[in-house]
Amino acid sequence: MKIQIVACDIDKETPAKSYAITVDGEEHELDLCQEHARPIDELIAAAKGETLPEPAKAQAAPPMQFTPPSPAPRKTAASAEQKPAAKKRGGRRPKITSMEEIEAAKARKAQD
Ligand SMILES: [Zn+2]
Repeated sequence: MKIQIVACDIDKETPAKSYAITVDGEEHELDLCQEHARPIDELIAAAKGETLPEPAKAQAAPPMQFTPPSPAPRKTAASAEQKPAAKKRGGRRPKITSMEEIEAAKARKAQD
C-alpha cells in the first residue's frame, strides 16, 4: 500500500492540493496548501463571480487566558521540621586576651 501526501511547494505544508496552471500555453504544476492556494482560489472564484467563504483558519484566535503562576506549594514536611537552634558550647571567645585572663586560664588548668 502506498500513500501519497501532497505537500505545499512553498512551505511543505500538508495537506496541499495540486494545481495545474496554464499561462500562455505554459503549464505550471503547483502543490499548494490552503493558505498559498487561496489567491488562486480567489481568482477562480472571482472569475466565476463568486466570493470565497472566509478561510477556515480564523485569524482572530480566542485570546489566551493569562493565568498568573501560582506560588509553589510549600512542602509542609520541610517547614515542620524546624530544628531548634543548636546551643553553642563554651560561649564566645574574646579575641583579645588580657594577661589576667591568661593567668586565670592557667590557674584553671592547674586545678584540673
Ligand atoms: Zn503553503
